[in-house]
Amino acid sequence: MQSDADKRMMTEIFTGSFTQQEPIPEEAIEAAVEVMRHGRLHRYNVAEGEAGEVTLLEEEFATQMGAPYALAVASGGYALATALRAVGVKPGDKVLTNAFTLAPVPGSIAAVGADPVYVGVTEALTLDLEDLERQLSVDGHPRVLMLSHMRGHLCDIDRLMAICDAAGVTVIEDCAHTMGARWNGVLSGRHGAVGCYSCQTYKHVNSGEGGLLVTSDPEIAARAIMLSGSYMLYSRHRAAPGPEVFERIKYETPNISGRMDNLRAAILRPQLRDLDQQVQRWNARYQRIEAGLRDTPGLMMVERPAEELYVGSSIQFLLLDWTDQNITEVLNRCAARGVELKWFGASEPVAFTSRYDSWRYAEAPVMPASDRVLHGVIDMRVPLTFSLEDCAQIARIIRAEVAAVFQADPN
Ligand SMILES: *Cc1c(COP(=O)(O)O)cnc(C)c1O
Repeated sequence: MQSDADKRMMTEIFTGSFTQQEPIPEEAIEAAVEVMRHGRLHRYNVAEGEAGEVTLLEEEFATQMGAPYALAVASGGYALATALRAVGVKPGDKVLTNAFTLAPVPGSIAAVGADPVYVGVTEALTLDLEDLERQLSVDGHPRVLMLSHMRGHLCDIDRLMAICDAAGVTVIEDCAHTMGARWNGVLSGRHGAVGCYSCQTYKHVNSGEGGLLVTSDPEIAARAIMLSGSYMLYSRHRAAPGPEVFERIKYETPNISGRMDNLRAAILRPQLRDLDQQVQRWNARYQRIEAGLRDTPGLMMVERPAEELYVGSSIQFLLLDWTDQNITEVLNRCAARGVELKWFGASEPVAFTSRYDSWRYAEAPVMPASDRVLHGVIDMRVPLTFSLEDCAQIARIIRAEVAAVFQADPN
């Protein structure tokens, strides 16, 4: 006979929203209203003696990331393309990147007229460093790696940097899912030549749209500032190199406008001050879900290495070697109980979820080991509007439905 607890497990329905973020903090709303009251929204439109919100944001973000230089731009994807241009990628070049990432990453490579070359993904959902070494062992290999810390999973970046340094490969980090994360204590985005971040609504700070980049290289910083659309107003930047560096690059660097405005920067500054606290709140939720999913029959957890301080703004697990039919059955059963899961293995790209072989403007290699992993990746957002009890309930629902499908047909 079923106990009451068993019955509840098979019938409870989650009613929260997987796309509802928290409201903008009051302090940020007030700062935004202040900008609208004075009307100086363009970053270079400042009153006598005023730095402007964007410049202050860059200065604060540089300090927060321990970087000498920072630039705020219109989007995360724009930051990636700007970083590629600033390190010297030219049309026709090849750029290494993850087979497991989101569409704006190969899109940024295509934006500069270059071609993505994919590196495989491991069961830890990180870049396959053996595949990277293999690709770097041939003559004429690409000179730039756009490393996407997809869904917040950090590879052994100390080893990755050693491999890339030895091969003379410049690393750009896509930290859209790792703003605030660390590897061995070092902030994500501070290993490669450039770290790029997104401030879009679904990331770790929310200005609707927006992006940031950091670097320790003065020439990359100066080029990125010019590229972003600084005209000859670069001396108004504070997290920037001195005028002598701009003198060297200012005639040869095009203006490809993609600035951030003071309104967005005003919204972001208070949120960035709260980042570490938000990371703890995300991780409390992540760990509640993780604990609830552990030891579910047929479900493989993605274990996090001890070196990694992650940001649990989403969670992944693997239904490795499951049939399409059984995975679809799990997704449908969970959806019927209010739990929205995304599947990276679907044959057609859906919403935010697509795969390297759906980006048909680029060559898709044969990657059986990555295909096996991608086919099993299930992904779920963890917005901060979920309570810890919501997270426990979501885990109970997934656990019950995965177990039910697996036990009926263990593939
Ligand atoms: C969101 C995202 C980006 C791009 O950010 P936008 O601000 O949306 O342009 C890049 N990489 C990954 C992995 C992302 O999720």
